[in-house]
Amino acid sequence: MLRVSLYVLAGLLVIAVIGFFFVAAPVVDARYNDTSSEPPFEASDEAEALHDRLMVADLHNDFLLWSRDLLKTYERGHSDLERLQKGRVGLQTFSVVTKVPFGRTYAGTPSDSDQITYLVAAQRWPIRTWTSLLERALYQAERLHGYADRSNGQLTVLRTQADLENAMMARVDEPDRVAGLLAIEGLHALEGDVDNVDVLIDAGYRMMGLLHLHDNAVGGSSTGLEKGGLTPFGRRVVQRLNERGVIIDLAHASSAVIDEVLAMSDRPLVVSHTGVRATCDTPRNLSDGQIRAIADRDGVIGVGTWPTVVCSTEPAAIADAMRHVADLVGIEHVALGSDFDGTVTPPFDAGGLAVLTEALINEGFSEREIRQIMSGNVVRLLRRTLPASATARPTS
Ligand SMILES: [Zn+2]
Repeated sequence: MLRVSLYVLAGLLVIAVIGFFFVAAPVVDARYNDTSSEPPFEASDEAEALHDRLMVADLHNDFLLWSRDLLKTYERGHSDLERLQKGRVGLQTFSVVTKVPFGRTYAGTPSDSDQITYLVAAQRWPIRTWTSLLERALYQAERLHGYADRSNGQLTVLRTQADLENAMMARVDEPDRVAGLLAIEGLHALEGDVDNVDVLIDAGYRMMGLLHLHDNAVGGSSTGLEKGGLTPFGRRVVQRLNERGVIIDLAHASSAVIDEVLAMSDRPLVVSHTGVRATCDTPRNLSDGQIRAIADRDGVIGVGTWPTVVCSTEPAAIADAMRHVADLVGIEHVALGSDFDGTVTPPFDAGGLAVLTEALINEGFSEREIRQIMSGNVVRLLRRTLPASATARPTS
């Protein structure tokens, strides 16, 4: 009897292990990276035709967190190379998540737990990533470079201004080519060592968000417990980012951090994925004063696509938030920060971005303005901020 129950127990354990390592992550991925409308995502003929002439430069995508191969096509999640190409995405910022505590709320997300540890284990990532946030960032950078290597030239990773120009030139003849830009969401990945900024730069990172959902050693998050300003360590980090010419992303930063970084930086700043309080009043979204200050630095604001930042599942709400930024500070500061594959529920996936173009047309934006929003402003910012060579110090 005892032997039989031991066999049963062992069998259950095997099933649990297989479930954890082979089934759990795809289930979580499909559940949390869903869309609010069912595919196919269809736009009007006019919007589809205009969208076909566009290039999209998206400021935020969390694809690298998930156990999908970018070069394969999936029914789950929001993006893969085929869907990026279908959505005319020519420049994709791949942002890397390294820690997400349990119990995230606007009222205050404690930092003393981490769901990503379970996810990286369930996805059978290398053991070194199970305990180190820095290793999680380095591994995700390796994954992006690996996809580029295997993509037959369809995907490249931007490190320099020359890479950007080459990528833009190449798209003239090969409009399906996608350029990737590595970014990170939260500098808790530095593990408290400012020299790890250089390690991340060497790994290819060109844009760094200081905060994610919780307060970290750098400063306060807009959804953190304290929501404070920069710490002394945070000031050293910002200094190093400016010295090394890294693009600073203020998404998820507390108001105090945003103000302090603005005071410390002359270079253009980015808010990669956000909403605006004027159309959706939440602590995570930008006030008009913050929008003006970002625009003053010739920065760009990536408007998000999902309900908690635009307060609606309608694509028109995304266009509304973009209209507000354009009216307040000028069209040249408006961009897209989809947050595809960021455990959000947008109305369409990367393959359905023509639906957003339709919403922009309906909002009254001209083709020239839509081109600026969808990519022109991001390309301008990268021309100014990417290093001239992979090791160069910045000039502006
Ligand atoms: Zn985010």
